[in-house]
Amino acid sequence: MSIFIIKAKKIITVSKKGTIDHGAMVVQNGKIINISTWEKINQKYHQVQVIDCGENIICPSLVDCHTHLLEFAPPSQFPITKETHLLAGKAVLLDALYSGITALGEQVCGNPICDLRVPDLKQAVQDVPMDISFAADCLSIGFQRIIHFSAVTGSTPIPRENLVNKEIIEALATENEYAGENIFITATPANFQKSEVPNAGKLIYSKQELTTIVSIFHDYGKQIGAHAAGEQGIQMALESGFDVLHHAQGITDSQIEKAARQNTKVVVTPLGGPYLESNSLEEILKLVNAHLTVSISTDAFLPPYEKKAVALSNDRKTLMGPEALMAIANPYMKGMLANGYDENEALALITRNPAKVLGKEKHFGSLEAGKDANFLVAEGIPGIDIINPSKIKAVYFRGEKVVSRL
Ligand SMILES: [Zn+2]
Repeated sequence: MSIFIIKAKKIITVSKKGTIDHGAMVVQNGKIINISTWEKINQKYHQVQVIDCGENIICPSLVDCHTHLLEFAPPSQFPITKETHLLAGKAVLLDALYSGITALGEQVCGNPICDLRVPDLKQAVQDVPMDISFAADCLSIGFQRIIHFSAVTGSTPIPRENLVNKEIIEALATENEYAGENIFITATPANFQKSEVPNAGKLIYSKQELTTIVSIFHDYGKQIGAHAAGEQGIQMALESGFDVLHHAQGITDSQIEKAARQNTKVVVTPLGGPYLESNSLEEILKLVNAHLTVSISTDAFLPPYEKKAVALSNDRKTLMGPEALMAIANPYMKGMLANGYDENEALALITRNPAKVLGKEKHFGSLEAGKDANFLVAEGIPGIDIINPSKIKAVYFRGEKVVSRL
C-alpha cells in the first residue's frame, strides 16, 4: 500500500474548495484520499512521507478533449512508415504528457494512410500513462470533390450515402467512447489552403439525417458530438440534439441561450480551421456567463493529404501540437480573470470542463478526495502564469510521477 503527502504554497483544486493556500494532499494507491491545508493534514497523518513542493503550485493535470494525435499526427511529424506509425504516435503522446496533459479525447476519422480502428488504437496505447478516450467519427473534407471517411471503414473514402447508412452509424456508435466530433455537419478545410478546399463549410447533412444519427447514438446509450461552425451548421446541431459542439465559431446569442437550455457542451479550438476566425474572447465569455460547459482544446494535428499540407503542418509544428494548449488558452483564461472569474474557473477550461466532455469528471479534472491523483507541480498556474511546458516541474498520473523536471 503506497501513501504519501504532497504539499505546496498553493493548491488550485478546481473544485468547490477553490484555492487552498499552504495546501496538502494525501495520495493513497493512486487516489486522493484527503485534501486540505497543510496544518490540518499534518495534524491528522503521522509517519507518512511528505513531498514538499515549496513555492510551486499544485493543480489538476490538463485535459485536451479534441485531438488527432494517433491517426494524422505521425506522418505529419515524422518520416515514418506503416510499421513505425504507432511508435510515432506514442512519441506524440509523450510530448502531450511532457506538456502536463494526462487525458485526451482522440478523434478516429478513418485514416487514409493506414487502416487503424478504435480497438487497434486502444490496444496500442494500453501501456501509456494517460487516460485516452476515443471518438469514432465520420470526416468530410471540403475539396472540389468533397471526400468522406469514417472510423469504421478505414483507409478507403466512402460515398456520401454511406455517411447515413444505418449499419455504419451503428458501428460508429458501438465503438464511440465519448462525444467527439463524430459528425462533420459542414465539410472541414482541415489545414489546407483556402483555394484547395473550396467546399469547406458546406453543409453535408440534412436536419432529418442528423436527427436520425443522433437518435441511433442515444439508443446505444452514447453521447454524440458534432464538428459545427457557422450559424447554419450550429443551428442544425442544436436542433438535432447533439450533446457537444466542437469549434462553434460564429455561435449567435440566441444559439448560446438554446445551448444553455439544452445543456449542450462546447469545445472551442482556437487553432481551428485556417479559414475561420478563432472564437473571440467575447464569445467565450458569453458562453461561460450562460453557464455552458466550455473547454479549450488544441485539435492537434490536422491531416496531411499532400505535400503542401505536410509542409504547412511542419512549419506550424510548434503552434499545432498539444504543447500549445496552455498558450492557446492563455488569452481566454486571462480574459476570464479580467472579467471577475477566479483562477479555478479559468483553469476549468483545460481541466474539469474537458473531463466532463469525456464523461470522466468523476475520475479526474479536479482535485478532490476520491478522484485519481492526476496533477501537476508547476512554477505557476498553467495557462495563466505559465504557458511553456518547461515550467511544469512534475506530472503525476494516478499517483505515479511520470514527468520530472525537478
Ligand atoms: Zn478535429
